[in-house]
Amino acid sequence: MVPIKRSYPAPTCLANEATKKSGDYKCGDVLDRLQQDFFTKCYICEEKYITAAEVEHLRPHQGDRALKYDWENLFWSCRHCNNTKSNRYQPMLDCTQAAVDRCIRYDVVPYPSITIAISAEEKGVEIDNTVQLLLDVYVGKTHLKKLESQNLRQKLSIEWGLFLSCLKNAVEDESVSHQEALNLHLHNSSPFAAFKRWKI
Ligand SMILES: [Zn+2]
Repeated sequence: MVPIKRSYPAPTCLANEATKKSGDYKCGDVLDRLQQDFFTKCYICEEKYITAAEVEHLRPHQGDRALKYDWENLFWSCRHCNNTKSNRYQPMLDCTQAAVDRCIRYDVVPYPSITIAISAEEKGVEIDNTVQLLLDVYVGKTHLKKLESQNLRQKLSIEWGLFLSCLKNAVEDESVSHQEALNLHLHNSSPFAAFKRWKI
């Protein structure tokens, strides 16, 4: 999870849809705006170019219309993370408001098979809940979720290999091109950027 800068103003269609009995919070340019703001990445697991994209409510709306159509409560997510989170892990960190990549530590052990460690760097119930969600997302709880998490870690493993190679090049050769390639890996738009930043 990395900090995200949400675009403003909110899509105008949301206020209109909120007045309808069966409104749609995925109206107008909401999907395009979210995908752009979140760099096409799931805000929880940081998988990029997700094929099963969903609009996730950070604070579960549970029928509350204000929360359901609130632009600041809509997040770009993958189905795996949306289903894992559901209405649990409350309250949790808001990546559009907090320095989420500093208060949570991410570690990767790539061999012999990739394992991850995620822990709180600061105290707080929101941090603890978010850490637990991230652990459940990357490890899985049910049989199906464990298989999905395994696939997610496999994608992380492939990206981690590319990142380590890039890091090695940048350390051994300080040319601009290698530094730029490394900076791309560390940018908010890069898949699994939170893990990469803690490596350096
Ligand atoms: Zn996800």
